[in-house]
Amino acid sequence: MVLANTSAASVLNADLHCHSVVSDGTLTPEALAQRARANGVDLWALTDHDEVGGQARALAAAHEVGLKYLSGVEISVTFAGVTVHIVGLGFDPTNADLVAGLKRTRGGRAERAQEMSAGLAAVGIKDAYEGALKYVGNPDLISRTHFARHLVESGVCQDTHEVFRRFLTEGKPGFVPHRWASLRDAVHWITGAGGMAVVAHPARYKFTPTEEYALFTEFKAHGGQGVEVLTGSHTAAEAVKYAELAQELDLYASRGSDFHSPDESHTDLGTLPYLSGKLKPVWEALSHRVQ
Ligand code: AMP
Ligand code: MN
Ligand code: MN
Ligand code: MN
Repeated sequence: MVLANTSAASVLNADLHCHSVVSDGTLTPEALAQRARANGVDLWALTDHDEVGGQARALAAAHEVGLKYLSGVEISVTFAGVTVHIVGLGFDPTNADLVAGLKRTRGGRAERAQEMSAGLAAVGIKDAYEGALKYVGNPDLISRTHFARHLVESGVCQDTHEVFRRFLTEGKPGFVPHRWASLRDAVHWITGAGGMAVVAHPARYKFTPTEEYALFTEFKAHGGQGVEVLTGSHTAAEAVKYAELAQELDLYASRGSDFHSPDESHTDLGTLPYLSGKLKPVWEALSHRVQ
């Protein structure tokens, strides 16, 4: 029986967004592959922030447990003064331009972390840099998440969301503005390496409708083709909004939990609803890149 609004391609448990200890997740690529498998994922991608150092391990671990795999990354971009995340899928992770671009994007994180620590010290939270470092798996990738874990563990806050709200977002003592990659560069690194660029969790950005339109217009002009419709950070209403946007703008739709940690993430790997059959899934266009 064929159900209305479904197609074989959309009914696939694809989870194309998550993080390991190679960026700001708490599980290894191997543990993530096992967890994805246990949760019924069919097609998986590890998308560490600004870093492809975990890709070979993730691919090997995926095959070890019988999962199909697409290479992945989540690139930090500054667009109209706001940090936007662009997911790359199905690219060659050894591509020299991509690897060099990501290395440049990671550069400056250590200095930013020192400034964050100074900001926190000014409100009485001492040695936050040293504290955050204890949670860092990749010395090249200290992130706000590591500070958040330290502030929870040391009893300053109850959970990481409280840390972000009180200390790590714009205007708060531990927030340091940072200039990431350009939208153009991020999209070109991904497409130049044979992959597809996807706007991550679009509802998270505080854009006006005009700014959002500009983001998607420029993204498409640079060669971007996808948008995350289903993500752990979208409400049901936001998922509907971005499903409509995917159709209006003729973008491929993606699905990914954005899982970081069993203790912190409310959406586990492989547990989102299926994509609507009205949408074109990103994995249809990337079938030749699935390993
Ligand atoms: P960074 O790349 O260092 O600016 O850190 C960004 C990361 O912080 C994101 O990828 C999320 O993992 C995490 N993050 C951002 N906002 C929040 C929030 N409100 N609550 C918990 N984690 C957050
Ligand atoms: Mn993160
Ligand atoms: Mn993100
Ligand atoms: Mn993410």
